[in-house]
Amino acid sequence: MNELPNCPQCSSVYTYEDGAQLVCPECGHEWTAGAENGNSEELKVVKDANGNVLNDGDSVTVIKDLKVKGSSSVLKIGTKVKNIRLVEGDHDIDCKIDGFGAMKLKSEFVRKA
Ligand SMILES: [Zn+2]
Repeated sequence: MNELPNCPQCSSVYTYEDGAQLVCPECGHEWTAGAENGNSEELKVVKDANGNVLNDGDSVTVIKDLKVKGSSSVLKIGTKVKNIRLVEGDHDIDCKIDGFGAMKLKSEFVRKA
């Protein structure tokens, strides 16, 4: 026989299964078994300066002159960047720019093209 978890709301031990759901007869709480184990992995959403959601493969335009780390070059406002790749971290866009090579950008400094 399966051990049913106690009610997460009132800790009642009288929970019972109702299909895929668990129900507490004491406080009326209903929930899905396993839902509290962090199964619902949150997908990170990366947005551009206007709040549009960016996806892998999108093209964006730089909206601000950006200094290129480790060089004296400046990535000019209006530079088009093709085929971006979203990554984890402070600079959440990985891309290749003609004349610059592989770069990392912050999504707050680009606009979806
Ligand atoms: Zn309860």
